[in-house]
Amino acid sequence: MRDPLLAVKGLRLSFKTERGDLLLFHGLDLEIGKGEVLGVVGESGSGKTTLAYSIVRVLPSNARIEGGSITLAGRELTGLTERQMREVRGRDMTMVFQDPSTALNPAFRVKDQMLKVIKANAGIEGNEARVLAMGMLKSAELPDPASVMQSFPYELSGGMQQRVMIAMALTSNPKLVIADEPTSAVDATIQVQILKLIERLRRERGFSVLLITHSIAVAREVSDRIAVMYAGDVVEEGDAKKVVDSPKHPYTQGLVKSIPAPRGRKEGKTQLSTVPGEVPDLTDPPSGCRFHPRCPYVMDVCRKSMPGYRRAGDSMALCYLYEGNGS
Ligand code: SF4
Repeated sequence: MRDPLLAVKGLRLSFKTERGDLLLFHGLDLEIGKGEVLGVVGESGSGKTTLAYSIVRVLPSNARIEGGSITLAGRELTGLTERQMREVRGRDMTMVFQDPSTALNPAFRVKDQMLKVIKANAGIEGNEARVLAMGMLKSAELPDPASVMQSFPYELSGGMQQRVMIAMALTSNPKLVIADEPTSAVDATIQVQILKLIERLRRERGFSVLLITHSIAVAREVSDRIAVMYAGDVVEEGDAKKVVDSPKHPYTQGLVKSIPAPRGRKEGKTQLSTVPGEVPDLTDPPSGCRFHPRCPYVMDVCRKSMPGYRRAGDSMALCYLYEGNGS
């Protein structure tokens, strides 16, 4: 990709654990274009949320970035001080968290929390800040912004709280929004509304989105591209619809089989498949391809050495099943 907004190159990230060192990322690459939505998909333990936290550098104390590069709009982030990163986090990239009821402080009115964020990230105070907050709440399709401003978070529904979080995240006009399972705490109808809202705001404002989700079906609907993660590796990456409609990596194929059939779309598909087995313990990772203990197509070579990226149809897959040379 020419001139990506976000470029993660050769990222190595480890954790110190009681059972030994765990190398989650051992050379991870990922890019997001300007104005693009990249869906990052995988089971719990795949590393997708840790990837997001590595980018914003909000990692637990036992985590260590051992190497690689993370650039945002051409600026290297890995060498920045915590103070410099705080500025980047507030101004250039922001996060929308999974559960707004825990991300919002229940003791303060929405108004106080929004004005504080606007002051910290955009340096705006007083009436100008109030006008900005009200405008963002309106853009987030909250019907009565004035009353939402006066509310405590617990007085709002889950969907309204998530709209407040989205409004807050956009007050600094960021280049990148990282949305970590933004619909997992709301019901299915609200999920669709929230995803459509993010999509509309992205089109209007031109920011890029890194959407973290365990649901490959959700990612297909709202992403331009999908990166499928397994045990710390991006195992398949490509156009969102092509990855889901014609999955190439055996793990992606398993995830796609686990999508419930929409009514009337695939007749006779009533049983949900899952990917058999579990994500490996990375303090003692499998040799070769990390997916080999669960792969129905495993070959001898898969147990011996890690495959490189190979062209698989329109996508790239980390798998020996494909012949084409990757980049
Ligand atoms: Fe399966 Fe081998 Fe491909 Fe890994 S490299 S996904 S074990 S076929």
